[in-house]
Amino acid sequence: MTPTVTHSVDSDGVGWLVFDDPAARANVFTPAVFADLRAALAALAAQPVKAVVVISAKERIFIAGADLKWLSKLPDAAAARAVGREGQACFSLLANFKVPVVGAIHGACAGGGTEVVLACHWRIASDARETVIGLPENSVGTIPGWGGTVRLPRLIGAAAALECILKATLLSAPEALRTGLVDEVVPAAELKARAKAAALRLAASGCPARAVPPAVDAAFYAGLRASTLKKTRGHEPAPMKVIDVVEENLGLTLEAALEVETQAFGELTAGDVCKNLIYVFFLKDAVKKLSVDAWFPAAVPAAPAPFRKIGVVGAGVMGSGIAQWCAARGHDVVLRDVKPEFVERGLAVIRGVFDEAVARKKMKPDAAAAGLARVKTTTGWEGFGDCDLVIEAIVENVAAKQALFAELAKVVRPDCVLASNTSALPIDELAATATEPGRTIGLHFFNPVSRMPLVELVLSPHTARGTAERTLAFAKALGKSPVICKSSPGFLVTRVLFFYLNEACQLWEQGVSTTTIDSALRGWGWPMGPMRLIDEVGVDVTDFIFGEMAHYFPPRFKGTKVCGRMLAAGMKGRKNGASTGFYTYADGKEALNPAMAQFASGAKSELSAAAITERLNRVMIDETKRVLDEGVLKTPEDADFALLMGAGFPAFRGGLMRYAKSIGAV
Ligand code: NAD
Repeated sequence: MTPTVTHSVDSDGVGWLVFDDPAARANVFTPAVFADLRAALAALAAQPVKAVVVISAKERIFIAGADLKWLSKLPDAAAARAVGREGQACFSLLANFKVPVVGAIHGACAGGGTEVVLACHWRIASDARETVIGLPENSVGTIPGWGGTVRLPRLIGAAAALECILKATLLSAPEALRTGLVDEVVPAAELKARAKAAALRLAASGCPARAVPPAVDAAFYAGLRASTLKKTRGHEPAPMKVIDVVEENLGLTLEAALEVETQAFGELTAGDVCKNLIYVFFLKDAVKKLSVDAWFPAAVPAAPAPFRKIGVVGAGVMGSGIAQWCAARGHDVVLRDVKPEFVERGLAVIRGVFDEAVARKKMKPDAAAAGLARVKTTTGWEGFGDCDLVIEAIVENVAAKQALFAELAKVVRPDCVLASNTSALPIDELAATATEPGRTIGLHFFNPVSRMPLVELVLSPHTARGTAERTLAFAKALGKSPVICKSSPGFLVTRVLFFYLNEACQLWEQGVSTTTIDSALRGWGWPMGPMRLIDEVGVDVTDFIFGEMAHYFPPRFKGTKVCGRMLAAGMKGRKNGASTGFYTYADGKEALNPAMAQFASGAKSELSAAAITERLNRVMIDETKRVLDEGVLKTPEDADFALLMGAGFPAFRGGLMRYAKSIGAV
């Protein structure tokens, strides 16, 4: 079998180590690749070479890091330590090679890829957009374990190294040059020639002496620990650990420092959090390959005709969010509401989202202006006749939506796909009035659209394969994370989340305090507790969906009263400028709302945090099991993915059903 690492020596005496996995799109480190690297280095060591260049033959990838499947299967810390030692030993062979070694980087250079080049004596990167460099190990719950925590701080200083590792993002070539992670940035077409020139230069005049980077004091580490702990809330050990490791390492010899790294890498990589985060990484990665095949009989594959022009009906919270997102991604959009002032309000929201994207440097001002200009508005039906897709986001009411579908069928082209953004209503019920129901589908975005990645793609029994394929391709092209479900009340996320919120309200009505409930769930890892989430979603929306759930799932859904009472008293939570709910939000300060006392039964119930999370988790797990049994989703992984991306389930726990399995609940 052709090895991933091959070697050659050119006529000028420069040795070339070329990474190119013949069987995969990306180069990643596996035990076999380490063996290849050792063999190639041994072969080069036996020849008269002046210098060596390490390079990749892939078009878009240098080395993507370790094979995460392999890492996630390591049985224990000892096995993980052995993996750490093997990588360190291989890269030390490069660092100690008899002649200078140059890393020539083009394409993604992540994790182990960056550790390879850190072991080289000179780093040169192409200026291509696809060239990105960094150590993202923290994002999968571990730390760089092949010398990264040792060599990077020695190269660019502890402060810059820790910033790079804790952010776990990849730097562009110019950014990497600024931090000192690479020494040169050159045009992609010249990379090979310039790397060879650098290699010969180093061969002639030796490796450059490097300045000792600035030191940091104990206060720096203390500050960084405090801010990191605030972010992780103690749930993810890797970010805190890497601070300890870097601080300890800088005072040690290279060998002793590598051993400190190995100990930490072994413990973290074998731990549950790392395994869970790698699982989440693969769930996210699987979206790229998601297809409708599991839902429809096999069909001759054909490239689905892409949607170009999008109609959005309803310029409220969701309609304006959807219109903005589509326009920002290059679609012409026509947005309709029933009154000019509603359209204006929607347009102001859209302008605000574009302005914010510019302020946060996510978009250039001219791109934002062009995006805004792509949104046309109307209170009639002008502009809908040539839409490829219309998404309705009007009030959550079956009769209103049915009337709209009937009206739409008269104004759009026969091949225009009709989608509903309903959060809970079965699509077949809404689309009963549409002619050609094969072109109807649910496309459930989450609020706020610009920040929530999930969309549920909801298939009715009538949805045609072509409709589903085109809509799936559209959702992916929008940069959203789709999950496919069968039409059923609440689909997955609304159903499971509102069973959970209702159960939390039951606890509240039984006398468990808002603080006790919310801190239990926050302590378990949720970004906010359920009572705080009700305020965020809106007490009005929550109460409405509780009603829908009670309608569709009697007698299992035992509706609670507190939200209805809050609503009657004008307490709508935090939505749309409202600022009273379970909490108050006056002057940007969040505080418990004393007015909630009027709804309390007077009962007092003391439950432990563990008992509360156990009860609320149980409700979610049971409902998800039912969703799976009913075939609303195809796999437990789909449920895990949807709750992670659409409800903020804590990623370090992997996913709800993965967690359920780990405690023997499924
Ligand atoms: P909203 O009340 O903010 O906006 C609805 C808009 O639709 C209003 O401006 C109204 O004037 C307009 N409208 C009503 N009938 C119309 C018609 N025939 N033609 C044109 N416009 C019409 O509501 P929203 O929160 O944006 O929710 C819209 C839909 O999205 C609902 O189905 C809801 O369940 C769903 N949804 C809401 C959220 C959320 O958090 N708000 C999240 C996901 C899905």
